Amino acid sequence: MFTEPNTGSDLGALRTRAVKSGDNWSVTGNKTWITHATRTHVMTLLARTDPDTTDYKGLSMFLAEKTPGSEEVPFPSDGMTGGEIEVLGYRGMKEYELAFDGFEVKGENLLGGETGKGFKQLMETFESARIQTAARAVGVAQSALDLGYRYAMDRKQFGKPLITFPRVANKLAMMAVEITVARQLTYFSAKEKDEGRRCDIEAGMAKLLGARVAWSAADNALQVHGGNGFALEYKISRVLCDARILNIFEGAGEIQAQVIARRLLG
Ligand SMILES: Cc1cc2nc3c(=O)[nH]c(=O)nc-3n(C[C@H](O)[C@H](O)[C@H](O)COP(=O)(O)OP(=O)(O)OC[C@H]3O[C@@H](n4cnc5c(N)ncnc54)[C@H](O)[C@@H]3O)c2cc1C
Repeated sequence: MFTEPNTGSDLGALRTRAVKSGDNWSVTGNKTWITHATRTHVMTLLARTDPDTTDYKGLSMFLAEKTPGSEEVPFPSDGMTGGEIEVLGYRGMKEYELAFDGFEVKGENLLGGETGKGFKQLMETFESARIQTAARAVGVAQSALDLGYRYAMDRKQFGKPLITFPRVANKLAMMAVEITVARQLTYFSAKEKDEGRRCDIEAGMAKLLGARVAWSAADNALQVHGGNGFALEYKISRVLCDARILNIFEGAGEIQAQVIARRLLG
């Protein structure tokens, strides 16, 4: 858990603090948009251990243990409270805002046993996180294409299936092209990662492209559904909402573009 109410893209500036208390650490501060925060047993928690810093250098990562919650008591651990954030889509995940007030983390659970390494440790996970988000985006896009194709085959207007109208068939064709490109770029970055090569640019490109392709595929497939696409009863309305988040979490599109541009310029 990294994001805070006032710190999202600029994570190096986060303010939740961890202070040594005997052998353990005492955590105080607020986090938000934390996925699956109630049910988990362990959280990767990024906090400021050097109070004299305001940048990434003073951050440390903790493997913070907690008691998993239930529907009735979502946050049973001492020093930790939270509430669910209601969301537009992607509801298979649940999101929470959290408050820590003297929440205790065992001393031995400082990742790597050394303070000040948290931001670097986080960066090391970013390539994989972006590749898996790109893969999820390809899945959402493929689902939109499948739904759009099936509807265009089944639905008849002017006595013919929608798919016989070039403007409908061309939408599906472009979706297939874009999804193929996004999928291949995702596979390529995953292969680079598997073979131990630096792939921040490729992972950023795959995530940026995948998220855009997913949104465009969902939008076009909804258009193929006509009015029915706007009805909750039809799956494509859910796919459209699910697609929207992909360009925001695991680093917003603008941040991926910034990472890519920086390397191009460098
Ligand atoms: C469903 C969901 C699940 C999430 N799960 C988690 C989780 O489990 N753990 C966790 O820690 N976080 C999680 N997040 C948080 C997510 O990572 C952040 O929302 C994301 O990083 C963006 O931060 P922000 O929302 O604070 O937006 P901000 O950083 O405030 O950005 C707002 C807008 O400004 C743009 N912007 C910001 N800085 C720049 C810049 N330098 N140049 C150009 N544009 C810029 C952004 O791209 C964005 O469009 C989740 C978010 C959502 C919605």
